[in-house]
Amino acid sequence: MLALSVRSRLTLFYSAVLSVMLAGFGILFYHALGLFMERSITNELEDQVAFLHSHMRVENGSVQLAFNPDNREEAYFVHVATRFYEVFELPSGKLLVQSEELELLGVRPIPADVRVLAAKPGLSDVRFPTQRLRFDSSIVPARDGSTSFLVRVGIPLDPADTARREFLHALLLLVPIGIALAALAGWQMARKALRPMANLATAARKIDVQKLSERLPVRGTGDEVDDVAKAFNETLGRLENSVEQMKQFTASISHELRTPLTTLRGEAEVALLEARSADEYKRVLSSQLEEFDKLTHMINQLLVLARAEAGEIQWADQAVDLSALALSLSEQMEPVATAKNVRLNSHVQAGVFVHGDANWIEHAILNLFDNAIKFTAGGGEVDVTLSSQNGDAVLRVQDTGMGISADALPHVFDRFFRAEPSRSKSVDGVGLGLALAKWIVEKHRGHIEVQSQIGEGSSFTIRIPLANANFPYQSK
Ligand code: ADP
Repeated sequence: MLALSVRSRLTLFYSAVLSVMLAGFGILFYHALGLFMERSITNELEDQVAFLHSHMRVENGSVQLAFNPDNREEAYFVHVATRFYEVFELPSGKLLVQSEELELLGVRPIPADVRVLAAKPGLSDVRFPTQRLRFDSSIVPARDGSTSFLVRVGIPLDPADTARREFLHALLLLVPIGIALAALAGWQMARKALRPMANLATAARKIDVQKLSERLPVRGTGDEVDDVAKAFNETLGRLENSVEQMKQFTASISHELRTPLTTLRGEAEVALLEARSADEYKRVLSSQLEEFDKLTHMINQLLVLARAEAGEIQWADQAVDLSALALSLSEQMEPVATAKNVRLNSHVQAGVFVHGDANWIEHAILNLFDNAIKFTAGGGEVDVTLSSQNGDAVLRVQDTGMGISADALPHVFDRFFRAEPSRSKSVDGVGLGLALAKWIVEKHRGHIEVQSQIGEGSSFTIRIPLANANFPYQSK
């Protein structure tokens, strides 16, 4: 199908509406004009008939019109009124008078016609080859009452027909010109109205991924074009942010990958410098295995984040018994804590249910447990509490570990962020765990927060809306 530009469509639409309107008004005026003219002609005819009736005299079978011939106005009126004029005697139908013009038109009513006219007096239109006449037929009784007469007076309808015809000619000539002019004006108007859009398109075409900081001009008129420009600029802003994040992300990944790879390579090079015993090779290989594990862990977490961002992760939507989950995770982490001489205390309220995906929630909680134990030195404690508060399940993992500095605190949920002591003390981890935990919690319409004092410990709190009390899983 032919694709028309907005400008062409606007012009076409505008012209079409105008054409329909002009044609509609034209037809209306055409008919109104005709009716108006015919009505005034009829009025004139009725005046003439009334005049003739009052001035008609019948004497000895002949019809006379009594008027003052010296009165020029009256004489002229009689002349006009009797242009198309005939009188018949009733009931015989005998023609008493007929004007010359009617005779010339070939009007020859026979008595039968006269009787038909007499039966139905009033107005009637007759078309002759040269013109159209409107007749008025009326019955006038003789003064002595002996007989009566049929008086027929006609008047030409030409003025109405001519006015109609001329109006139609003018319409056929002027309407196309009007439409053409309107289309031209519409075309120019559309061009003017759409020019800012064309300017926007030109400006938008110049923006590419290298120039995401550029913005489209907003003219400040507050019109639709400005709205489009603002919306586009907002999109550009979001794109700029995303691209910036992607750049940082890529830079962080490269950095995080380079460190373990350099370590692996260094260890392998040193090991190969000279012949070594089997035990030494074993030590190097197991150290390398640890690095491989870290790399695998990191890549797995990255993959999860990437899939999450691409919206590829499937979420189960079930009731999750958070109490059972927290208890089971506490038991699972107990040996890890004990191995580090950290006491793990659990205070778990029973029957706390949330909606969502148990595996992902487990992932998030496990990360908090893991961090709490990891960043708490021997002799310290980790408290896990779960309760329901104000419609939320509230899970808190509190430790007496190294804590987080006020500077670092706002960034702990950023990807690849690791606060200074943990980084320099080469504690395991790549800084993705909390980013993932935050994303999981938010996916469950909850939120995660942290409170921490350096040297005194940290407290991470997850709040997730409780599952509806009527949820079928709870009754099981
Ligand atoms: P990772 O543990 O792999 O380093 P996370 O995203 O889980 O990554 O944590 C990011 C950073 O937040 C950690 O490197 C650490 O500096 C800080 N952090 C997280 N949890 C604790 C905690 N319980 N105590 C002290 N610091 C913490």
